[in-house]
Amino acid sequence: MNDFDRLHLWHPYTSTIDPLPCYEVESASGAVIRLKDGRELIDGMSSWWCVIHGYSHPVLVEAAKRQIDKMSHVMFGGLTHQPAIELGQLLLSILPPNMEHIFYADSGSVATEVAMKMAIQAIDDPGRTGFATIRSGYHGDTWNAMSVCDPVTGMHGAFGNDLPVRFFADAPKVKFGSEWDPADFDSMRTLLEEHHHEIAAVILEPIVQGAGGMRFYHPQYLRELRSICDKYDILLIFDEIATGFGRTGELFAYRHADVYPDIMLIGKAITGGFMTFAAVATNAEVAKRISASQSKCMMHGPTFMGNPLACAVALASTRLLLTSPWQEKIKHIEDIMTQRLAPAADFPEVEDVRVLGGIGVIELKEPVDIADFQKRCVDEGVWIRPFGKNAYIMPPFMAITDEQLIHLCDSLLKLIRKSQ
Ligand code: PMP
Repeated sequence: MNDFDRLHLWHPYTSTIDPLPCYEVESASGAVIRLKDGRELIDGMSSWWCVIHGYSHPVLVEAAKRQIDKMSHVMFGGLTHQPAIELGQLLLSILPPNMEHIFYADSGSVATEVAMKMAIQAIDDPGRTGFATIRSGYHGDTWNAMSVCDPVTGMHGAFGNDLPVRFFADAPKVKFGSEWDPADFDSMRTLLEEHHHEIAAVILEPIVQGAGGMRFYHPQYLRELRSICDKYDILLIFDEIATGFGRTGELFAYRHADVYPDIMLIGKAITGGFMTFAAVATNAEVAKRISASQSKCMMHGPTFMGNPLACAVALASTRLLLTSPWQEKIKHIEDIMTQRLAPAADFPEVEDVRVLGGIGVIELKEPVDIADFQKRCVDEGVWIRPFGKNAYIMPPFMAITDEQLIHLCDSLLKLIRKSQ
């Protein structure tokens, strides 16, 4: 491990005094990450779920180069450009049909902040500034985003009373693919019936709760939620930052339920994992209400809003996805993961095995020892980074070969046997 890095650079969620090991990467292409010492790792993470086409995809590299030759950045206040316009047109053609306006944000967490600000401005009622969500959720690391993450496994413990207090309903228990039980919605129904006069919006990840626990829940939950939000004029925000762009087997996860939100967040895979970028889409009603509110406009305007380089790469990545047989590829990956991960269900260390689209999860009974796991992972020639009790694979689905995926799955089964 590089000494300067270990002594001076912060890495996510590890100590500076006794950091987890960190491996220096020289380059990456397709589904392979090359370390400085020459070892090659098959990537099972898509760099936190965003590199859907694989690394250094020539189409994205070319789009970035072409845009850099024109301009990499120009402010969005008072100016506009073709990459932003064409990307907006393309996104509106694939987002829920009620979406009409797009706000370009810098990252997923910023998109969450923007969406929550939008909801408060649209509701425009000082008595109704609260948010409801479900436990086991994750929406980012900025202040308001943290406040709607799971209150136990999220970061509430570290920031305590300084975080705004939110309304938490139980996480949905009925699994995706099993039979719906109306009782699963009771907690959220009771919460909204009791507190609707204090709540501007409900925010949640549709179908897949990602970093809060890798849980897949029943689409009926979202239908019930839409109906009660309509009853009380509560806005519904879908955070599709992790689920968007094909990962769950549908282009966006809302399609599993056919329920449209009022505000929708996309990020991560929007640029094919090339660089940070996100977008917040709203229906016409939300946009109209914000323009008619006390402030008359959306009160957010970051320096790098609508960054042309990010827009150009996002446009190229989304076009590439839409013109490829992504749905068959995801189905194929789902079939391989379902088959190869199944034996883990009989391991004494394993609580549950589940697969949806390009997500394969082995939930363990005890938390993984990350340092030991990662060392053995690199020895196996794969890159998998578990969190808590979840050891999972989210491969770069457009790039990975069958052989690479099988090696990933078989390595995961081996790795979980000793890492607790
Ligand atoms: N929402 C969800 C559902 C996410 O999974 C994430 C990132 N894991 C975020 C928001 C935050 O995105 P970012 O890390 O780009 O700020």
